[in-house]
Amino acid sequence: MDVAGYFDCIDRCRRKFPDLRILTGVEFGQPHLFDARAAQLLDLSELDRVNGSLHTLQIGADRSEPNTLFRLWPADKVIWAYLAEVPRMAAGSDSFEVFTHIDYAVRFWPTIQVGPFDPKRFEEGFRNAMRLLADSGRALEMNTRRLWSWIPQWWSEEGGRAVTFGSDALTCPARWPRTSRKRWRWSSTMGFGRDGARRTSGHDKGRTASPLVVPIPALRG
Ligand SMILES: [Zn+2]
Repeated sequence: MDVAGYFDCIDRCRRKFPDLRILTGVEFGQPHLFDARAAQLLDLSELDRVNGSLHTLQIGADRSEPNTLFRLWPADKVIWAYLAEVPRMAAGSDSFEVFTHIDYAVRFWPTIQVGPFDPKRFEEGFRNAMRLLADSGRALEMNTRRLWSWIPQWWSEEGGRAVTFGSDALTCPARWPRTSRKRWRWSSTMGFGRDGARRTSGHDKGRTASPLVVPIPALRG
């Protein structure tokens, strides 16, 4: 892993785009299992942001991605197992401050076999996971390739204080500024301001937060 090269690259980007606030960061998969191993690769505290993600669940002696698990387990079991592990991950690691893509298992939902995904059926599990993440002071990354309105709504209702955008993109597409404006408009309808923090009053009216870009490589166990 070329950590020095990554920081050099970020420095060049910051010089080239001085109007942007560019953070360093990483997506860290299963941090509750791999904190010690990650520490051997890099000092996470040097990064501006660590997104914790949950890509795999335990099955037997191994761990598998949801797309595999949906072929082995009943569909509901995959979602419930995923949601049960989110609080374990939050309690088992101090190294991430943003939980990313809580809908990860949902993306592989086997619609053809079992019909469309209905979040209402799993509402209690999502709300419980969100409440525990919110209680731990973490933010929730909104992956906007799929704009599920129930995620920011339940997040806000369960005490979530902040959302983040764009740091699960892994690359910075040229269209980013335009899509960012769309994301901010969308999140503002859910009660979050341009800086990602939940609005408690009209305090962020007219506020001009500069765009936030987090080029984020993946670190997966
Ligand atoms: Zn991921």
